[in-house]
Amino acid sequence: MAEKRKVNRCTIAATQGRGSDVIVIGAGLSGLLAAVYAVKAGARVRLIATGWGQQIVSPGWISVCDRADDDVIAEVRGYAALHPEHPYALAGLDALVCALDLLQDIAEEIGEPVAMRPRDGHNLRLPTMLGALQTPLLAPAGIAAGDLTEVEEPLLIVGFAGWRDFYPALVAGNLSAQGIAARPLTVSLPAERGSWDDWPADLARRFDDSAFRSAVLRQVQPQVKGAARVGFPAVLGMARHAEVRREFEAGLGCPVFEIPTLPPSPAGARLSNGIRRWLLRQRARVQIGHAVLRGNVENGRCTGVEVGALGHANPFYADTFILATGGLYNGGIQSDEAGRLWEPIFGFPVSGPPSEGRADWYQGRLLAEGGHAIHGQTGLRVNAQMQPLDGDGAPVLENVFAAGHLLAGFNPLTDGCAEGVALATAYKAVSAALAARA
Ligand SMILES: Cc1cc2nc3c(=O)[nH]c(=O)nc-3n(C[C@H](O)[C@H](O)[C@H](O)COP(=O)(O)OP(=O)(O)OC[C@H]3O[C@@H](n4cnc5c(N)ncnc54)[C@H](O)[C@@H]3O)c2cc1C
Repeated sequence: MAEKRKVNRCTIAATQGRGSDVIVIGAGLSGLLAAVYAVKAGARVRLIATGWGQQIVSPGWISVCDRADDDVIAEVRGYAALHPEHPYALAGLDALVCALDLLQDIAEEIGEPVAMRPRDGHNLRLPTMLGALQTPLLAPAGIAAGDLTEVEEPLLIVGFAGWRDFYPALVAGNLSAQGIAARPLTVSLPAERGSWDDWPADLARRFDDSAFRSAVLRQVQPQVKGAARVGFPAVLGMARHAEVRREFEAGLGCPVFEIPTLPPSPAGARLSNGIRRWLLRQRARVQIGHAVLRGNVENGRCTGVEVGALGHANPFYADTFILATGGLYNGGIQSDEAGRLWEPIFGFPVSGPPSEGRADWYQGRLLAEGGHAIHGQTGLRVNAQMQPLDGDGAPVLENVFAAGHLLAGFNPLTDGCAEGVALATAYKAVSAALAARA
């Protein structure tokens, strides 16, 4: 039987990075966690990103190993032992455990707590907007409150009349078909505000307004009728999310949870904005909206990066650089119609499907089992310090460390671990970078 274990608490050597200047490129989960870690370790940090990363369009939960039936960390350990090129194997299990711990700490600190199942380290079982079940390890507390591991039934699933992004009958119908008793309820949004094509983030901001949410709450109250829990689309407030959820739980007399819906993701926006404000309070520099154009290199080291802003390239200098620019989906790796793949800032070698051109990039079916070669075989090869490697397996630059979706060795679309990889490799990249300076 798999060993039961809770994610440990890890200590950060608060002086490890003292005096060092770290530039983090990218504001996805990987870049944000790297910046938080480097700040907590005492470094002076500048975060530069073209825009926010994928967390603002993804559900907001953290997949570490979705397929694990029992202890998630034990499953990852077994998998890593068999796949030495996988980023989990390279970063090591300690980095994953510490990264999850750091994420929980910072999320708590910024008032956007994430939760996992108490005690046993197993995956959550969370309903999706189609009424299917997903199994991430952690999720924002409001989403994690929908965990169906020990089902308290029946569920009441609430949606909004005429809103295109969430259908309570679909959710409840598909949950019921899996033996989870759920009934749908559709209520109206206050008429003078809101429309069918509101985005989830628009609606989340409207729930920050107490008159708006009271109008919704009043319609749900008489319909609770013995429901053990009430689920809403994940739009319960933006700036006042915790307050909205508390108010709904008090008003409905039972736990309230959120179900992620279509992008953009209020949960991801809350986390991103909360970390951005935290970094600024710690006197880190945060430049969102500025692309890093290229890295300047001398004698095997990066001396600085050039950043496109105000119509020209501005140089920024540091001792250490964390490259967390995402993969093909966020600009970290570029491609063209001839089938070339390249990393645009440093020109690091990119592994990809072996054939010339694009012929083998995709299988015939969009949802092909095993995914597509272009997603599973593309990325930067790194060593255990997260340094990008050349064709001979040697680090290209001494002081540049890569993390996240950008890396080779896994399929971020099908493996159910992309968020865990983003966090673990960011943690390892910063640890290695600071240790190299010490
Ligand atoms: C809709 C959706 C659903 C998902 N669901 C899941 C899921 O259920 N489970 C799972 O494991 N994974 C899921 N993922 C994938 C997962 O979210 C990502 O793999 C992970 O968040 C990637 O994080 P990252 O920090 O490595 O990169 P990204 O989030 O891609 O961030 C890259 C950052 O780099 C910046 N950048 C790029 N180029 C430059 C440049 N030249 N200069 C400056 N900045 C630059 C970008 O602006 C961005 O801030 C999902 C993704 C999406 C889009």
